Amino acid sequence: MFGVFGPGEDVARLTFYGLYALQHRGQESAGIATSNGSESFGLRTGMGLVSQVFDEEDLAFLRGQIAIGHTRYSTAGGSLACNAQPILVRDRETGEQIALAHNGNLTNADVLREDLEAQGVRFESTADSELIAHLLAMAPAGTWEEKFHYVMRRIEGAYSLVIMTKDVLFGVRDPLGVRPLCFGRLGNGGWVVASESCALEHLGVRMEREVRAGEVVQIDGSGMRSFSPVAPLAKRAACTFEYIYFARPDSQFMGKLIYPVREEMGAQLAREHHVEADLVIGVPDSAIPAAIGYAREAGIPYREGLVKNRYVGRTFIQPDQRIRAAGVSLKFNALGDVLRGKRVVVVDDSIVRGTTTPRVIQLLRNAGATEVHMRFASPPIISPCFFGVDMATKSELIAANKTLDEICAHIGADSLGYLSVEGLNAATGQSANDLCNACFTGVYPINVQLEMDDMSAARRDPVLAAADSLNRSGRP
Ligand code: AMP
Repeated sequence: MFGVFGPGEDVARLTFYGLYALQHRGQESAGIATSNGSESFGLRTGMGLVSQVFDEEDLAFLRGQIAIGHTRYSTAGGSLACNAQPILVRDRETGEQIALAHNGNLTNADVLREDLEAQGVRFESTADSELIAHLLAMAPAGTWEEKFHYVMRRIEGAYSLVIMTKDVLFGVRDPLGVRPLCFGRLGNGGWVVASESCALEHLGVRMEREVRAGEVVQIDGSGMRSFSPVAPLAKRAACTFEYIYFARPDSQFMGKLIYPVREEMGAQLAREHHVEADLVIGVPDSAIPAAIGYAREAGIPYREGLVKNRYVGRTFIQPDQRIRAAGVSLKFNALGDVLRGKRVVVVDDSIVRGTTTPRVIQLLRNAGATEVHMRFASPPIISPCFFGVDMATKSELIAANKTLDEICAHIGADSLGYLSVEGLNAATGQSANDLCNACFTGVYPINVQLEMDDMSAARRDPVLAAADSLNRSGRP
């Protein structure tokens, strides 16, 4: 998500560049909404990459002083055009437009949807994000503090939000602080809000700070103010997967730059799972810092053994197993001169379904590697994510269904090692009380029992299972 309050600026173009820097967070659809202070917003959304969705004509059409934008990666509600964001709604009392973009996943969406439908709300999408927009539109007249209090005491789960009214820009982070959000000053009274700090830096915007857990940052003609509409929680639940894979290495999360955290994960992995080898390689791009950290700690030379075609997107993000599978072999090529006759340690950030790793290992063997020792800079993923990362259902998670030895055999490695949860926590430098490791431990920061029950019921009933997977990701 990206938002800009910038009177006198080309806010749509700034948002376009901001979204370009955040493309890694979602590749399914993109959208920009602008306000020029009038009753009606400009909006362009479409399926595909930022570069495919907007052209010069769109940017010329999207005029105003405020803009918000979104790139979508679906975790709830399917990869459909109707689910592209920003979402537009009208305040029930004043009729004023509100635009909203959401990153995360609500855990009480089903209950809320039933509730709102009973109150006459007609939904246009299947995304949980639309619930938040309607709640804000329905909030009783009052101050923004009161309106956000109304919304935030009803929604549960992970939500970082960027919201625009005709003259105000908001950045909101859930009380657990699951997904990142930060903001900075544009100069001349302008401000920018973005999912990751890398987007600010590309635009030469100085980061002010991250939005705090449970905080609402309000930006308008009189400057920036902030408030916390609901009581603070004793703990936070920042997603460790942001550190492991999701965020860009040049972004900050909870005050730490991602790159050195990934290097430390690799170093920790070397301490936990040493092996005699001739060289260490990383699976590009996300695992390179961890591979460098591993090599340095182990005292084994680091080399590039795989070359990635940069124009093939994140295979995993494409919500279809067939495309994902083809994507892997199109994505990497092995360097025979580097690998031939060598015992190789391969570091990847994670294994989810186990589609990528066997193919990568086969590529390395075909290129002449004599031994392949697989090392993951994350613990085994054993439980699905209900907070905004597409981890699939439990039945698809390889580590939830196979033992370590079975996984090693499945991927065709000579040895296999995962980073421990303790090692991961230590590498982030954060207190374990402030992190969400639910995908590795099965211990969720808030009660997700309802959804867990849904999922186990779905697994017992094939019809329900199909409906469940459609609901969750739009793919059967
Ligand atoms: P898989 O083939 O399902 O085991 O996917 C693992 C690969 O996808 C790893 O190499 C990661 O770099 C990447 N990956 C892991 N988790 C995700 C995710 N939630 N979304 C997109 N890509 C991911």
